[in-house]
Amino acid sequence: MREFLRTKGYKMTPQREMIFRAFFELGEHVTVEELYEKVRKIDPSVGHSTVWRNLKLICEVGLAEEVKMGDGVTRYDRVTRQPHGHFFCTECKSVVEFNVEPIVDIMTTEAAGRNFAPEHFKVEVHGVCAECREKVGRQTARGTSPGIEDDDHATVEERGNTSR
Ligand SMILES: [Zn+2]
Ligand SMILES: [Zn+2]
Repeated sequence: MREFLRTKGYKMTPQREMIFRAFFELGEHVTVEELYEKVRKIDPSVGHSTVWRNLKLICEVGLAEEVKMGDGVTRYDRVTRQPHGHFFCTECKSVVEFNVEPIVDIMTTEAAGRNFAPEHFKVEVHGVCAECREKVGRQTARGTSPGIEDDDHATVEERGNTSR
């Protein structure tokens, strides 16, 4: 990691290493607040802006990417893992991953048929998770959010981040 950062033109300091490690331990859909809390348990002297800057750096060097679900909160995923889709609960804002390999295959085939060179795939399903459905005691999650035209909309995008 030290070497990797150097090739990108950054120095690895002990504090930076600690923040990076904390992020990779959290791993999935980490918010800056979650990372800040974790870091503060290890070293209470680290400020919010330091955590923020290092999180940006992790993205900048290509080790994590932003995940935006349209609720105004930016989450961060490490990128060294399998491509995956996200189930996003619009009630409790939880994010659950699922395997998208068959979907990526379909999108790749479609793209090839149009001589389109895909660079980035994004599969996102918005809805209500099992726990929240139970809590509210409803049998179906359909048509419950006035103002949003479709509560169960799904977006499948081939690049960019246009769902907001
Ligand atoms: Zn994810
Ligand atoms: Zn939920």
